[in-house]
Amino acid sequence: MTEAIQTDIGKYRITQEPFYLQTGNETGMFEAACAERLPVMLKGPTGCGKTRFVEYMAYRLGRPLITVACHEDLFASDLIGRYLLRNDETVWEDGPLTRAVRMGAICYLDEVVEARRDTTVVIHPLTDNRRTLSIDKKGEVIPAHRDFLLVISYNPGYQSVLKDLKQSTRQRFVAMTFDYPEADRETDIVAHEGDVDRETAGKLVALAGKIRNIREHGLTEGASTRLLIYAARLIRQNIPVHEACRSAICLPLTDDARLQETLGDLIDDIF
Ligand code: ADP
Repeated sequence: MTEAIQTDIGKYRITQEPFYLQTGNETGMFEAACAERLPVMLKGPTGCGKTRFVEYMAYRLGRPLITVACHEDLFASDLIGRYLLRNDETVWEDGPLTRAVRMGAICYLDEVVEARRDTTVVIHPLTDNRRTLSIDKKGEVIPAHRDFLLVISYNPGYQSVLKDLKQSTRQRFVAMTFDYPEADRETDIVAHEGDVDRETAGKLVALAGKIRNIREHGLTEGASTRLLIYAARLIRQNIPVHEACRSAICLPLTDDARLQETLGDLIDDIF
């Protein structure tokens, strides 16, 4: 391994243990997949702990972690790398995936379906027994480091016919489902991350429970753990509870005035 890659590894190592509360046997499953070099797919709604879990696992396994937030303008070349002009010289710069493949990092492609279709062409040879990455522009095929692991996340709630993971892609991954943690555990998370007392955290979780139940009536997704933490943080900053819940939970969830009213009533019920 070159010196440049060694220095790079340092940048992507997680040196402090991220706070993560297990919700099932997800750590055991991830470790097993990792030991067998099986790519992993994390399925679940936004803000329920998928990213935090990957960070925690990277720390636990002592592997560097390279995260890419995928979006609709992300092409395969953004993952692989490109030629850049530097001081009148053309130099090659590895993209995040290539870097991960070379250094044996965990590469986390967050919301992978958002990315351009051409990214699947890159993912396929990396996720079967070839474990290779083709850098077409350089005419190079590089074998993945033995510790390289590809992890993708995927929110089934958002999918449409146009934006879905193809079977040929999804059947290359071991899948793990994530959901909002059960109430007691979510209360611990909100209290810890939002730095509020357990009673306040418990009420926020109860509110989320009610909101998650009215999902069928127009909300595409329930209130995430992330939003509850935001509300807790506003409360910690002495924003009155109702206002904090409105700004951190209700307004981000919907633009619909009638739904806002319903959500407002739920806040009144609980606080
Ligand atoms: P996702 O990647 O699923 O969109 P995140 O991992 O960013 O969601 O989770 C949002 C926040 O919720 C995290 O920053 C973390 O504070 C908190 N969180 C969710 N689940 C857990 C958990 N099991 N343990 C600790 N924190 C959690």
